[in-house]
Amino acid sequence: MKKHNFSAGPAVLPEEVIEGAAKAILELDNIGLSLIEISHRSSEFKAIMEEAGDLALKLLGLEGKGYKAIYLQGGASMQFLMTAYNMLQFKAGYINSGTWSTKAIKEAKILGNVVELASSKDKNFNYIPKVYEIPNDLDYLHITTNNTIFGTQYKELPKTNVPLVADMSSDIFSRPLDYSKFDLFYAGAQKNMGPSGVTLVVVKETIFNMVKREIPSMLSYKVHADSGSMFNTPPVFPVYTVLLNLRWIANNGGLEGVGAQNDKKAKLIYDEIDRNPLFEGFANTDDRSAMNATFNLIDESHAAVFDPIWNNANISGLKGHRSVGGYRASIYNALSMESAQTLVNCMKEFEKNA
Ligand SMILES: *Cc1c(COP(=O)(O)O)cnc(C)c1O
Repeated sequence: MKKHNFSAGPAVLPEEVIEGAAKAILELDNIGLSLIEISHRSSEFKAIMEEAGDLALKLLGLEGKGYKAIYLQGGASMQFLMTAYNMLQFKAGYINSGTWSTKAIKEAKILGNVVELASSKDKNFNYIPKVYEIPNDLDYLHITTNNTIFGTQYKELPKTNVPLVADMSSDIFSRPLDYSKFDLFYAGAQKNMGPSGVTLVVVKETIFNMVKREIPSMLSYKVHADSGSMFNTPPVFPVYTVLLNLRWIANNGGLEGVGAQNDKKAKLIYDEIDRNPLFEGFANTDDRSAMNATFNLIDESHAAVFDPIWNNANISGLKGHRSVGGYRASIYNALSMESAQTLVNCMKEFEKNA
């Protein structure tokens, strides 16, 4: 029986996406060949890559607005370096809202002057740090829109005149937003988009010539954009699976549709965290993520009662990250309302038994 999958990533995907991907491994669209044994230069795969790029921009409301959607390898972690390589000439500003931001800062420092404009490290990143004045002389401002480990998420974007760059690995395609506010954003696929092995980068064409340094081909956004994500062999299976998932999102009301569902699931779980006297939420209430709900037991010894309850209910992947402890319910697009309700039922049952 399929489990209720609350894993933070790689994570739950819609059943029909997994079935479609599995089918294409056996044979792609009745062409007599598997998806993973055809040339990436074949007309079949070219069509897949094109649709994956076009549909990404369409869902994000960025069609015809001077953006490119490119599919790369190396994960979000490679983007920590690549953004700086392509955009950092003099000075960049970073907001440090967690482990991933901290890593992004470390990589950017290799290439230039980096200012940490704000940090929530003082409280183990349980809130989104505010910046009241963002200097105008930055090459760009980098934020992490959703902090997967700590369960915080930007509800409002910082107001700035400098190019805005974001790591959206764990909340891309999860909610409607004015994506044209960003000059560049990226996401490793394995949270809310598809399997691991591919990273989506959405980039405004105006950033292609921002720096004077020579950029190695594999690290150049322009090189990858100009070649339609085909500069070298792309990860064909993850790209195809992402495309199936983007189609699923389109068929489920686009970002408005999945966003409304995500808000409902998040509310259901947070309401129970707040109501149940045996739990406390980890993240600051105003900054709570609709993708990763982090919570702890008031009395940690109660884990001996709570853990068997959710294990027996066929729930998987609920343990919190080691830096936060407790529990983390990752409630990405594909997690069903039924799974969210199952968790809430376990929390109520635990209250009766503890
Ligand atoms: C998981 C995650 C990363 C790391 O992604 P990789 O693809 O493993 O490099 C970076 N940022 C955020 C916000 C994440 O959730």
